[in-house]
Amino acid sequence: MPKDGFGDWREANPSDDPGAFSLPVSVPAAYRVLINAALGTPAEAALRRQVEPSDPEGVVSPNESADPLGEARYLVTPRLVHQYRNRVLLLSSGRCLGYCRYCFRRGYTSRAEGFIGEDELEPVLSYLSSNGEVEEILVSGGDPLTGTEEELRYLLARIRSVRPSLVIRLCTRAPIFAPERLSESLVGFLRGVRPLWLIPHVNHPAELGSAQRAAFARVLDAGIPIQSQTVLLKGINDEPRVLATLFNQLVALGIKPGYLFQCDLAPGTAHFRVPLSDGLSIWRELRRLCSGLSLPVYAVDLPGGGGKYPLSELALIEADRMPNSDTLRVTGIDGKVYTYRA
Ligand SMILES: *Cc1c(COP(=O)(O)O)cnc(C)c1O
Repeated sequence: MPKDGFGDWREANPSDDPGAFSLPVSVPAAYRVLINAALGTPAEAALRRQVEPSDPEGVVSPNESADPLGEARYLVTPRLVHQYRNRVLLLSSGRCLGYCRYCFRRGYTSRAEGFIGEDELEPVLSYLSSNGEVEEILVSGGDPLTGTEEELRYLLARIRSVRPSLVIRLCTRAPIFAPERLSESLVGFLRGVRPLWLIPHVNHPAELGSAQRAAFARVLDAGIPIQSQTVLLKGINDEPRVLATLFNQLVALGIKPGYLFQCDLAPGTAHFRVPLSDGLSIWRELRRLCSGLSLPVYAVDLPGGGGKYPLSELALIEADRMPNSDTLRVTGIDGKVYTYRA
């Protein structure tokens, strides 16, 4: 990507050319195993719909955007997003191990940029060394584990060499899509670059097969903590009992459920979005079914760059008062007012 034009993909208007945001189709082998294990049960469709494209993907709604999180505003290098004061997010790769059809960053992942190269890494490292207030880096993408083990080791070692105590969060779907990538050898390396957290994306209890559980166990045995994130998806996991089972099973494995995200306004994803009013009633029920440990934070990323907004007790009270509870109008991290409508 040219340095002076790195915001381009995010400024494009998706309704002009929805095809420009079509994601590759790829169902990883380990996920096929899970689908086969779920054949004939409701979990089969819950897994398939996440990775198999369907017609509504070509339909872009007016409230959708190529850059639903407004990340373009916060790019400090072509690969680094600095939105929150003390933490940055690295777009380590535009590729994924499998392609989630509801991807919020499809404006980027549909381009399938490769693993970060030396010329793009240098400005990231100098930014990190000159910005002491940055305490955490989210190594995200795409999926950082699409890199070869050598590429990943090199990237993490370089980050560690410029900032010895920076907390690294490895954000990945590998434990579910390609658990074999978390090999003893890679996990042994990750152990050595701590402080590091693994942040897996997990959406359904049927995603916790034996290979997936074994990968999580290897990571935890190496002393690497894990916090998961989940996307609330219509017809996939929008039932309190399904989500409660997922969160309780994660806790039993030693994983803290971190976030339950409202689905973002990415092009062609309307069929996955749970209306806010339904999301809030699911969450009310979840609070009854989960412990303080197993309950994640239910949050929405405010469109246009307002940041993560927790749909907490106050949001529930607010929703009860609002005539149209599918519209959230709140103040973002920058003090401006943002509207989320689903
Ligand atoms: C989600 C996110 C973070 C991390 O936020 P937490 O609330 O600490 O999980 C950091 N940077 C960007 C750009 C993000 O989207």
